[in-house]
Amino acid sequence: MRALTLVEHGGIDRLRVQEMPTPAVEQPDQVRLQIRSAALNRLDLFVLGGLPGITLGFPHVVGTDAAGVVDQVGTGVTGLTPGDRVVVNPGISCGTCPMCTSGQDPLCRTFGVLGEHRSGTVAEYLVVPARNVAKVGTHLSWAEAAALPLATLTAWRMLVTRAQVQAGETVLIWGIGGGVSLAALQIAKHLGARVVATSSSDEKLAGAKALGADVVLNHASQDVAREVRGLTRIGADVVVDSVGEKTWDKSLRALRPGGRLVTCGATTGPMVQIDIRKLFWFQWSILGSTMGTVSEFAAMMAVANSGKLTPKVDLVVPLEQGIEAYRRLESGSQLGKVVIEVSR
Ligand SMILES: [Zn+2]
Repeated sequence: MRALTLVEHGGIDRLRVQEMPTPAVEQPDQVRLQIRSAALNRLDLFVLGGLPGITLGFPHVVGTDAAGVVDQVGTGVTGLTPGDRVVVNPGISCGTCPMCTSGQDPLCRTFGVLGEHRSGTVAEYLVVPARNVAKVGTHLSWAEAAALPLATLTAWRMLVTRAQVQAGETVLIWGIGGGVSLAALQIAKHLGARVVATSSSDEKLAGAKALGADVVLNHASQDVAREVRGLTRIGADVVVDSVGEKTWDKSLRALRPGGRLVTCGATTGPMVQIDIRKLFWFQWSILGSTMGTVSEFAAMMAVANSGKLTPKVDLVVPLEQGIEAYRRLESGSQLGKVVIEVSR
């Protein structure tokens, strides 16, 4: 099969499109998919240079998200048949340990993400456990379907499960443009919240407005914390911050007493400080979140299949030009997901 692979650690120039062995179903609970589109996440850029504690075999098939057609099913699989149109939840766990059976599969000791710990999705065929796929309606294009899983699931867990956003609350989302922040915007609106979105790009702010943001702020020219306090009098109920060092202090200044700050990343650096006196006096909740569970994936897909979560696609390139997708992601100028069309 054709696949986009990383031949050794380094930069984007270490990516190659090449023939790889076609995987087959080997376990009764597995399915094989013929991949139509795959999507990239920021994580895919981190994988290029290598991640601490992860040793890859080369050539390594890259890519974290995918959508395709079921092509083979294991003998123990129910509810899926060849020809089904599906998306892939890229978080793979054992399915049998106490964490998995109690519904906390991201805490499984063997938990890993396609493309990060395991062979990825930018390939003509992919074998995964059947519990990692969900049927997807034809209202989403293949590119939109592939753009959905990782970012939308991550944002779903952050807002629904961790921060428990309520109708009427104000949610501040830093750095609109990437998949998680755009998904957070759509989910917050679905929950009935008021969304304040920031970017340093007026073009992205116009895009956020078109996608339903109630208020947009340019964080390069405006004091976000002051603006949010002006809008709300007390501060935001929830702050979604995956920027890290650059925004941490401002996030806390924008947060109301009793507010929740939720994070799933640290793109500008991971080391921040907190004044514990403010933490307890203002009774803030600082919440970490990553990926999502099998049941959160099902809940998110039910909303997506009702037509209420449609990921924004920034760029689609064919497999042979997969490197261009990485260049776009690296530029940071995208509004939405970067997608690779694997097959038609
Ligand atoms: Zn497990």
